Amino acid sequence: MKLCSIASGSSGNCIYVGTGKTNLLVDAGISGKRIEAGLSELLVDAAKIDGILITHEHLDHIKGLGVMTRRYGLPIYATKGTIDAMLATKDLAKTPHELIHEIRADDPFELNDITVNPIHISHDAADPVAYRFTSDGRSVAVMTDLGKYDEYIIDNLKGVSALLLEANHDVNMLEAGRYPYYLKQRILSDRGHLSNDTAGELTEVLLSCGDDLKTVLLGHLSKENNYDKLAYETVRMEIGLTGERLMPSLTDFRLMVAGRDKRSECIAV
Ligand SMILES: [Zn+2]
Ligand SMILES: [Zn+2]
Repeated sequence: MKLCSIASGSSGNCIYVGTGKTNLLVDAGISGKRIEAGLSELLVDAAKIDGILITHEHLDHIKGLGVMTRRYGLPIYATKGTIDAMLATKDLAKTPHELIHEIRADDPFELNDITVNPIHISHDAADPVAYRFTSDGRSVAVMTDLGKYDEYIIDNLKGVSALLLEANHDVNMLEAGRYPYYLKQRILSDRGHLSNDTAGELTEVLLSCGDDLKTVLLGHLSKENNYDKLAYETVRMEIGLTGERLMPSLTDFRLMVAGRDKRSECIAV
């Protein structure tokens, strides 16, 4: 199975997950043109996408969904709350109902050779989910747009080989930055976004659960309140990925940052 970020950040998200047989997208929050360009770099024909799995209705996750659906008639998978919220937008109101498939958190389903498990997340949207994918005994997950993690999230991420994990902001940058008070509070709340520190903590917890996790791709970085090197260094410090403290299990562990506007390396598990 392969995991690749076509775009990840507070300005637009689109992630590819696939096998030789099945091609999926998690979210379509960038323009149709950029999605097509990203897929063609991956040598995937946009018309052959087997499903677009939506995490939630915020614009940075659905901006290009209308175009992609109209152009290619691609099936959409989302929770009831997300579907209702999407259909209430002008761009998606006329989406043919036969293309929309309702899914539920903790109710796994199969798309060809991939088992998809939607996971509840705490975020200020109607009914948001993250996703875990399993094929041929290996798992990857896309976990962004959540204000906090708990035992339930940890349980659902145990055993994944690769993880795209939100590292949205640096708390100090956010607090000192120019965002209005209410927006700062929203981002910092339990229904907001994971900070670099929290992403580091969660990575540390997952690494201590076993040695399956080989790659963490940090994503959904804020343009205002974070930057690649800061997210990377904060998480690296948190997990002790530095000379002396290097745990044996970390020798083949890779930490990367997904670009806002450029495709990540393709992670194969
Ligand atoms: Zn988002
Ligand atoms: Zn969101």
